[in-house]
Amino acid sequence: MKTINKFILLFIINIPLCFSQPKTPISEWVGKTILLIGAHPDDDHLSHGTLAMLKANGNNIYIVTLTTGNVGTKDPNMSKTDLSKIRRQEQIDAMKEIGLSEENYVNLGYDDGRLEFADKEETIGKLVHYIRKFKPDVLMSFDPGFNYQVWHKSDHRAAAYLTADAVRAAEWPLMYEGDIIHNNLDAHLVPEFLFYGGNIKDKNTTVNIDKYVNQRVAAGAKYLSQWSSGWFNYLGSDINNYPDKENVYKKIRDRIKIVNGVSVEQFRHYKGIPDGMGRSPRD
Ligand SMILES: [Zn+2]
Repeated sequence: MKTINKFILLFIINIPLCFSQPKTPISEWVGKTILLIGAHPDDDHLSHGTLAMLKANGNNIYIVTLTTGNVGTKDPNMSKTDLSKIRRQEQIDAMKEIGLSEENYVNLGYDDGRLEFADKEETIGKLVHYIRKFKPDVLMSFDPGFNYQVWHKSDHRAAAYLTADAVRAAEWPLMYEGDIIHNNLDAHLVPEFLFYGGNIKDKNTTVNIDKYVNQRVAAGAKYLSQWSSGWFNYLGSDINNYPDKENVYKKIRDRIKIVNGVSVEQFRHYKGIPDGMGRSPRD
């Protein structure tokens, strides 16, 4: 009986170490280049604990956002131009909280809410350019799905598939070859992926972000046009101007997933050729 109790105690103590991980756990990644592609300025937020950890561990991180986020408001006095500028600054301020600078951020400038109607060849071409330019060892994006397509809301759906198609195109030297010939870039094969935003049952990787919770919360509190009363009545970039300040912090904390008492972020990890990112091997 005593032995069994000891075994159970040992198991409980070691639970954080038992989280499923790639062969080299994400907490041991060093010197990698990581590119996160999202649809809106804030789509990276649910990965901010992991990104803060990766940055602290000496990895190089870039974020490419497809749209400016210029329609995400219910404030009747907000213009698209103003919101576009506000959300750019929110994104840069949030990135600073997790150790990233504006130089690590690219926004492709597409209109929020209409990414599916943007010219697909052009959009993929731009993503191919940045994949070849940054040469990521790991690409993070919305999960396009595994053995079936995952449903996401409009721009997220588009971002998942545009990114998957761009990753595949980037490895072929004769696709978008103008970029190779005229911009001095090489074809690039992305070898490893972390997909966010997919179905819970497809997630196979859990990252302990306990040490980075404060950074994630501080970063989240920069998106005041999105996650505060600023959604209806924007009052500027200073959180002290908002009557719901404490509730904003609480909401951001409440979004952090807790497993076995540990703050975590979860992903679907895939290592292999881009063709296989969404399916099991077939005959
Ligand atoms: Zn979004």
